Amino acid sequence: MSLVQEETPKMTANYPETFELDAEQREILNQADRFGRNELFPLAQRMDDEEWWPDTAFPAIGDAGFFGATIPEEFGGAGMDLISAGLVLQGFSRWNHAMALSVVAHDNLCANNIYRNGSDAQRAKYLPDLCSGRKIGALGLTEPGAGSDALGSMRTVAKKDGDHYVLNGAKIYITNGPVADIVLVYAKTDPENGAQGISAFIVPTDTPGFKVAQKLVKMGYRGSQTAELVFEDCRVPAENLVGAENKGVGIVMSGLDLERAMISPICLGIAERAFDLSLDYAQTRRQFGKPIASFQMVQSMLAEMYVLLETMRTFTYRVLAAGAKVEIGAGGRGDIHKLTAASVMYAAQTVNKILDLGVQIHGGTGYIWESEINRLFRSTKLLEIGAGTTEVRKMIIAGELLKDMPRG
Ligand SMILES: Cc1cc2nc3c(=O)[nH]c(=O)nc-3n(C[C@H](O)[C@H](O)[C@H](O)COP(=O)(O)OP(=O)(O)OC[C@H]3O[C@@H](n4cnc5c(N)ncnc54)[C@H](O)[C@@H]3O)c2cc1C
Repeated sequence: MSLVQEETPKMTANYPETFELDAEQREILNQADRFGRNELFPLAQRMDDEEWWPDTAFPAIGDAGFFGATIPEEFGGAGMDLISAGLVLQGFSRWNHAMALSVVAHDNLCANNIYRNGSDAQRAKYLPDLCSGRKIGALGLTEPGAGSDALGSMRTVAKKDGDHYVLNGAKIYITNGPVADIVLVYAKTDPENGAQGISAFIVPTDTPGFKVAQKLVKMGYRGSQTAELVFEDCRVPAENLVGAENKGVGIVMSGLDLERAMISPICLGIAERAFDLSLDYAQTRRQFGKPIASFQMVQSMLAEMYVLLETMRTFTYRVLAAGAKVEIGAGGRGDIHKLTAASVMYAAQTVNKILDLGVQIHGGTGYIWESEINRLFRSTKLLEIGAGTTEVRKMIIAGELLKDMPRG
């Protein structure tokens, strides 16, 4: 009897390619790192202490050419791709992760979404000022009663009235909300039709009826401004509808995939900084007459941090590369939906583990509010909550894995 199987067993999974940065991409990361260290790091402590928003930062980021990485030059962007945009976030997050969060909400959630889904007239009107950093963008999806079930439970409505839509409702936890000039808002235009009755609107914040109801005080990412926004008979011209009426769900879903791909490099930048700080502290802090790095249990923590960091780097870049191939109008389903959810889930859980070890290595210093490692530690929990929680990410992954499973 032959031991050789007659048929090769079928593989059930695809194993996508690995990815490495090329010279140009490494240069983009270096430039973002230099800008982050020289221009953004000096702002970080005060932003964290006072929840201070430095008004000059966005125009400076715009002047340095870091906004609009994914937007063509004719609209004021840099005409690069999603990988470059991710590398900018990674470089910034090493030095000022709160600013990086504001940047991703502005550049990816708002500007890139308008670029991908807006008309040429909308692109020409809004993108140049967003790309220069003269105007600040935000995205409003989450509501007080609609978080993980953002689409199904959405209550904000937009009712057509002549050549305007009238918005009523509230959005909560909106990054950049208190300082935004332009908010991309999702609202129900056909409330009877569930997720198929949602549309997207560009709402300039000087529109009568728009109000910042409250600025929210956070445990981390404190310099990044967060608000509850209210719309009370807020009339926006019909030309501010993004894409077709009732077709907002496609914009939300594909936008969320790209957002998830972009949150991973923020996790990576924070993890790199936490690792550097911990490696340095372990070699300079002395106990029992020696650097603590000479103790095997501290070495074990450093080794674990290193492995976590490097696995996270590989996965983050691979998924950014996959995200960069997502055509306009695609995403929100299939492999990319699963992969982006997996990447951000892993990166967020991993950066939390890395910070736990980092604070442990720092001992009492790490528990003190004003230490840098503490600032990072207080921030990382958000990465398991924003852009869909860890549980929602698991639901997406399992949903895709099991989509062909016979039901019942
Ligand atoms: C600092 C910050 C910035 C943010 N920025 C923005 C922004 O710019 N724009 C925006 O639109 N939103 C933003 N958000 C909102 C964010 O996306 C939501 O907080 C997130 O989607 C979770 O919603 P929720 O807070 O209502 O939690 P809930 O949905 O109430 O969830 C509470 C818990 O229940 C779990 N849960 C819920 N449903 C299920 C289920 N079916 N199965 C298993 N577990 C479940 C969740 O995983 C979680 O653990 C931000 C949030 C924060 C904190």
